[in-house]
Amino acid sequence: MGFPRFNMNEKLMEGLFSMGFETPTPIQEQAIPVILSGKDLIACAQTGTGKTAAYLLPVLSKLATSPSENIDTLIIAPTRELALQIDQALGGFAYFTSVSSLAVYGGSDGAAFEREKKALSTGANIIIATPGRLLSHLNSGYTKFGHLKHLILDEADRMLDMGFYDDIMRIINYLPAQRQTLLFSATMPPKIRTLAQKILHRPEQINIAISKPAEGILQTAYLVFDKQKNDLILHILQGKNMKSILIFSATKSNVKNLERELRKLGLSVCAIHSDLDQKQREEVLRDFIARKTKILVATDVLSRGIDIDGIDLVINYDVPQDAEDYVHRIGRTARAESTGVAITFINEYDQKRFKAIEDLIEKEIFKSPLPEQLGSGPAYEPWKNTFDPRRRQRPHGKGKR
Ligand code: AMP
Repeated sequence: MGFPRFNMNEKLMEGLFSMGFETPTPIQEQAIPVILSGKDLIACAQTGTGKTAAYLLPVLSKLATSPSENIDTLIIAPTRELALQIDQALGGFAYFTSVSSLAVYGGSDGAAFEREKKALSTGANIIIATPGRLLSHLNSGYTKFGHLKHLILDEADRMLDMGFYDDIMRIINYLPAQRQTLLFSATMPPKIRTLAQKILHRPEQINIAISKPAEGILQTAYLVFDKQKNDLILHILQGKNMKSILIFSATKSNVKNLERELRKLGLSVCAIHSDLDQKQREEVLRDFIARKTKILVATDVLSRGIDIDGIDLVINYDVPQDAEDYVHRIGRTARAESTGVAITFINEYDQKRFKAIEDLIEKEIFKSPLPEQLGSGPAYEPWKNTFDPRRRQRPHGKGKR
């Protein structure tokens, strides 16, 4: 379980934990060992699956362990926004390492071009670039890609849709033939397969298919501040004759706290989290399955794989980290032919992530109004990047990059 089993560089792990990453997503589970082993990779995974960390972490781990003065990795992305996003994620992961990086995506001022030129000629370790801008540097002849070890194409399908095929092939002509190439794409149309055949060498393949929730599940969500969540649970449970209710939360402390609060209110509740040993977990589960306890509050450990029938209601106390987890969690209700209800609480920090989940499952989930006595919840602004103070995230761009 967890990231430590990949045996990645310790300084990198520090950065990872300070960003609040604890459990690898499915794409990370599968891609990290392949990339660490040095093989080429073609991965079908969308935004929201954790694909950025899936390729950044193993590459950063290698670099942090064997520091270099050269350009080691080139990441090509379709848009400035994505290039910047990748660079920001990288800044967080690499915070405690000496790895340097630069995003090469343009900008109209000459200073930006000079900065990029310097990084490309003296060697920032990782270059994240949009194709057009990179080509204008390559054409000038000062770029030093002779020691490049990794080439990563992110959102390859989008790059081809935007007409970058020729640019990509031209860029590749400037790179050493002996390198590890990783291709990430949300879809795998034939033109991506053709590109892969040209530029990858005996690649491993990973396909993270996003499953869709079963039709019978009634899904709704509430926009709610953290401090309103417990009252909202009480409101939802009030007067309903439900026999089995599962509540998921991302953190152990939330799970323990909620169990305490609900017990204080006289509800039949138990909790399952990583502080319990295997025997205790089994006991808690047995009581829940036998309907001796009505409410089970759980961290993610329970969301995958365990087949409990006939759950009436699943509540996501917070938005799951990735879409696949969302589908797994709400899949605990409405198994087989029965119907069930899944409710997700979305605070002001989780809105963007929930929107990404809706995009992936191709369904907009209805946002129910809060009951009047709870007051109003946060405004719905899923396009906003909100800094979550609960995560001990380091400011990007600080420290050695
Ligand atoms: P991506 O698919 O790379 O765009 O990632 C989607 C979001 O999930 C980003 O906000 C990441 O910071 C976050 N994320 C990715 N992997 C993890 C993880 N293992 N634990 C927590 N958050 C993650």
